[in-house]
Amino acid sequence: MAKITIDKMCCKGCDICIAICPKKVFVKSKKRNGYGSNMPDAQNVKDCAGCRLCERLCPDGAIDVEVEAEKNEN
Ligand code: SF4
Ligand code: SF4
Repeated sequence: MAKITIDKMCCKGCDICIAICPKKVFVKSKKRNGYGSNMPDAQNVKDCAGCRLCERLCPDGAIDVEVEAEKNEN
């Protein structure tokens, strides 16, 4: 499963990540970011496809996606 971290001091709460994630991983939460506005939470992280679209499109570079390497069973 991917690990998604959102830096609350960088996130400005624009909700772009909520809108663009094809798997609807992010939801608006009650957590406040460094600006005092509500920030997203990666609530449905189990559905993450690891595409890193959110990481690339967040205008503030606030998202970090760590995707587990696939196990090589050879
Ligand atoms: S796209 Fe980035 S700045 Fe905007 S809400 Fe998501 S994490 Fe925060
Ligand atoms: S890596 Fe892709 S699927 Fe996962 S949260 Fe980001 S946009 Fe959604």
